[in-house]
Amino acid sequence: EEPPAATAVPQAGQDGLMLLRRVGVVDPSSLDDYRAHGGYTALRRAFELGPAGVIREVTDSGLVGRGGAAFPTGRKWQATASQPDRPHHLVCNADESEPGTFKDRVLMEGDPYALVEAMTIAGYATGAHQGYLYLRGEYPRALRRLEHALAQARARGLLGDDVLGQGYAFDIEIRRGAGAYICGEETALFNSIEGYRGEPRSKPPFPVEKGLFGKPTVENNVETLVNVLPILTMGAPAYAAIGTERSTGPKLFCVSGSVERPGVYEVPFGATLGELLGLAGVREGLRAVLLGGAAGGFVRADELDVPLTFEGTREAGTTLGSGVVMAFDDSVPLPRLLLRIAEFFRDESCGQCVPCRVGTVRQEEALHRIVERTGADAAGDIALLREVGRAMRDASICGLGQTAWNAVESAIDRLGAYE
Ligand code: NAD
Ligand code: SF4
Repeated sequence: EEPPAATAVPQAGQDGLMLLRRVGVVDPSSLDDYRAHGGYTALRRAFELGPAGVIREVTDSGLVGRGGAAFPTGRKWQATASQPDRPHHLVCNADESEPGTFKDRVLMEGDPYALVEAMTIAGYATGAHQGYLYLRGEYPRALRRLEHALAQARARGLLGDDVLGQGYAFDIEIRRGAGAYICGEETALFNSIEGYRGEPRSKPPFPVEKGLFGKPTVENNVETLVNVLPILTMGAPAYAAIGTERSTGPKLFCVSGSVERPGVYEVPFGATLGELLGLAGVREGLRAVLLGGAAGGFVRADELDVPLTFEGTREAGTTLGSGVVMAFDDSVPLPRLLLRIAEFFRDESCGQCVPCRVGTVRQEEALHRIVERTGADAAGDIALLREVGRAMRDASICGLGQTAWNAVESAIDRLGAYE
């Protein structure tokens, strides 16, 4: 059965929001409504600026990737745009699968034309004529709304051989994932589109040089792309003035768990974790918050003054990742939670490389012994977890194996999970 439509939690000053301002306000099936709410002004501005001008604006804005890795978007676009090899491709990574992440779903279901417009701008700036939207298979409503938006955009000359009469040809094809977490890793995603097994490739070469079908490719997350619209309409300096010096602009956070109003919130970078949780209403007995998802790390209830920036969370020994904020109260059995995370990684490991294929199994086994108290020696199992975790972090091919021990490690070191 299809889950209910995703909505953003109504926030005070909805009009002032940059990414969510149309979500829950416009009719997502109506191109006219999208235009009436400012839609397609950014694309017109892009044609005035020209491809190099757009890349300059995106670079000057300080925008970094919102999928989780925070790579500078302007640098990525410039690197692809300057490749002589043709054709260039644009891929939107909409395979949102990090546990606790549902912000891209809210954007795609609530404001699908924004993504279509943003992809068109990204394609124009980087010299691509074909965009691929790789959509998580479990998002049927987003699929329907995006398919409708693409058809309308084609019918109105906003996609096709001559976008907005500017002589630029661009179209978008949707490809659906089939439930594998690893297909959200950009190179596994390319393999999936190409019809191969969804296994990550070794990097370098980076996709900007050799990506989809072996051609220069820009791959961006949904939220990253949608940020390009306000950057072009308000200008890079105004955008860069929001947030902090090193984390500019607004950020979507997916707040779940022990809070009164779970959902997606937009706040400028630099707000503290405590302020964000204040919007969502924290319940009694808060023990810890998992930031960054299963691959992220915990902060304790007495550390809520951590600033929600890439640099601030790094300094606090965790990560902002894709914007996951999962609150846990005293009633949650931490060891079982960690075991569940370990099961997830064991399930989702693609099995291509030994450290991750074997390490995720050993990690789950050790956690299982600790939870069920079947091991002779919990301290020995924790030592084993550290050793396996180090091997996975150092020797795995991709981010899945490299981060599969993060949450468990931080629960042991910061929360005293097994004491
Ligand atoms: P990464 O750091 O390897 O790369 C980030 C991006 O920068 C990639 O597009 C990569 O191609 C590019 N890049 C890096 N160095 C480059 C260079 N020198 N030149 C050109 N391009 C370069 O990280 P990753 O493995 O792509 O992503 C890991 C992140 O994914 C984690 O932080 C995690 O939070 C996130 N994640 C998100 C989800 C989700 O559902 N949103 C799911 C799983 C993981
Ligand atoms: Fe596959 Fe894990 Fe290796 Fe990544 S780290 S390539 S998911 S086995």
